[in-house]
Amino acid sequence: MNFPTQFDVIVIGGGHAGTEAALAAARMGAQTLLLTHNIETVGVMSCNPAIGGIGKSHLVKEIDALGGAMARATDRAGIQFRVLNSRKGPAVRATRAQADRQLYRAAIREIVENQPNLFVFQQAADDLIIEQDRVCGVVTQTGIRIHSKTVVLTAGTFLGGRIHVGMDNYQGGRMGDAPANKLAERLRALPFKVGRLKTGTPARIDARTVDFSVMEEQAGDTPLPVMSYLGSVEEHPRQVSCYITHTTEATHDIIRSNLDKSPMYAGVIDGIGPRYCPSIEDKVVRFADKSSHQIFVEPEGLTSYELYPNGISTSLPFDVQVQFIRTMKGFENAHMTRPGYAIEYDFFDPQDLSHWMETRYVQNLFFAGQINGTTGYEEAGAQGLLAGLNAALRARDAEPWYPLRDQAYVGVLMDDLITMGTKEPYRMFTSRAEYRLLLREDNADQRLTEKGRELGLVEDERWAAFARKQDAIQAETARIATSWVRPNTPHGEKVATLLQQPLRHEYSLRDLLKRPEISYANLIELSDTHPELPAEVTEQVEIAVKYEGYIKRQQEEIDALRKHENTALPTDLDYSVISGLSNEVRQKLQQVRPSTLAQAGRISGVTPAAVSLLLVHLKKQS
Ligand code: FAD
Repeated sequence: MNFPTQFDVIVIGGGHAGTEAALAAARMGAQTLLLTHNIETVGVMSCNPAIGGIGKSHLVKEIDALGGAMARATDRAGIQFRVLNSRKGPAVRATRAQADRQLYRAAIREIVENQPNLFVFQQAADDLIIEQDRVCGVVTQTGIRIHSKTVVLTAGTFLGGRIHVGMDNYQGGRMGDAPANKLAERLRALPFKVGRLKTGTPARIDARTVDFSVMEEQAGDTPLPVMSYLGSVEEHPRQVSCYITHTTEATHDIIRSNLDKSPMYAGVIDGIGPRYCPSIEDKVVRFADKSSHQIFVEPEGLTSYELYPNGISTSLPFDVQVQFIRTMKGFENAHMTRPGYAIEYDFFDPQDLSHWMETRYVQNLFFAGQINGTTGYEEAGAQGLLAGLNAALRARDAEPWYPLRDQAYVGVLMDDLITMGTKEPYRMFTSRAEYRLLLREDNADQRLTEKGRELGLVEDERWAAFARKQDAIQAETARIATSWVRPNTPHGEKVATLLQQPLRHEYSLRDLLKRPEISYANLIELSDTHPELPAEVTEQVEIAVKYEGYIKRQQEEIDALRKHENTALPTDLDYSVISGLSNEVRQKLQQVRPSTLAQAGRISGVTPAAVSLLLVHLKKQS
């Protein structure tokens, strides 16, 4: 096929947001172009080669439930898998995988190259073609003009990127890559509000110079978890261990005595860094009473000797990095393969976006990923998918779609960004979601796959697997509701032992499963025959029964809020007397004086929790 000069969707940037955006648009049938600096860097992980973790795995599974690539690539590239919070409730359980960065990149590239309707083109986008406040194409670095109905921008840390190592700094999009300065200038000339953020990465270390015998070994989990709903452990490459070491008093002394050489502390960097992923300089200053911090020593891949020391990202000069790293147990003779560095870059105020990720000032232009003030591959990928699918919808003049806070973490992410903006790199946590028990990592498919199918994002193989799983869950839920255990029978005696009290009357297996003493595994011993079911099916049956009451209560809260959306707010309402509202929310409500609860909820900074407080107040008054 000839290279078309008119596309439905052009995606600028082949990072985590860009690949999910381009794949989503193409899956929906849009003629899509992925325009990126360098095809070799499609799917590159700029920092730690790890996917998932608390709050983040929820996003990965949502991307997967909508047919995206991140989880599938992780299953093919993951060299250590763990389920975090496995002893806590299902709402906060999270899968994390350490990936081989080469395998991950290869997996993403293979998925991109095999996607129908998707073209890849290696060029920098230097300019946007904008006519009457509507984007209609892109101009590349060599002056090629490519037209399209919509454009998704996912330029990551590249816009006006500046790299810092000690007091030296120079322009760069990330180490080894040029920045996107022309495009940054062009965007600065448009009405967008532009700010600066920063992030950092640690030095890398040669594993052959490390003494692992003095570190704590951390093996992956058994049974081996998978990331994708379509994944299998057979896809995983060889599994390896990570290790744990610690910073020492000596590490902290060296860092403290060199703070004047840190660009952050010397005032050379203005951008604000990620609070939850601070540099080692930040940790030493902010937690001055701590004499040690835990450092995870993580392999970068199966065919590489490089290690990623997770927890010591820094922008101190290279000689200081060498000194402080060698004060840690096992690193006494460490050879550094790359210095750590910080990068400052442009981001756009996400309050200028719609929930479907279109910019307020330029129609048909969508922004996704790090440029919206977030940090992390997962946050970027989820936004990319949402922007890509909405660009495809817009290209065919269809209504936009986005999930609400009670449907998906990506809904929480976008709603947080749009209503509150961000002053520091935003990362996802389970604590950001009000309806955690509904938004679990194990049920993202039940929340989203049907919608994904309707939108054209979910292909036949995934849809068939999803339908099989749903049927099995339903059949098993029905079976346990109609299978009975009676007193004075062998099964009844087993139950009495588990409950430590005699059985007084008959119970269904479903009733028994509600009891904390009884797990789904016990039910197998309590039936003469039972179907052989995969763990992901029995897990859903068990969670739905055990948490039925809590899930129902959360659903009722959501329904009540929805029902009251059109409730009128009196024009003379005195917001200062409503207890629980923050001063900031009070001020905004006083200023705007919304006429309904729904309108109040759309004011930037007015959270769903604040809307609930308004509702409670109105009810008290009536
Ligand atoms: P990126 O992955 O940066 O991809 C952007 C892509 O766009 C690149 O392929 C680039 O070549 C392309 N591009 C840019 N401009 C143009 C243009 N004009 N024309 C064509 N192509 C273009 N995340 C964490 O969660 N924790 C961390 O500790 C962390 N540390 C980091 C440290 C460093 C030094 C860096 C650079 C990033 C770090 N990150 C960290 C962030 C993580 O890498 C990003 O969140 C994630 O990669 C963002 O994905 P993205 O798709 O938005 O952008």
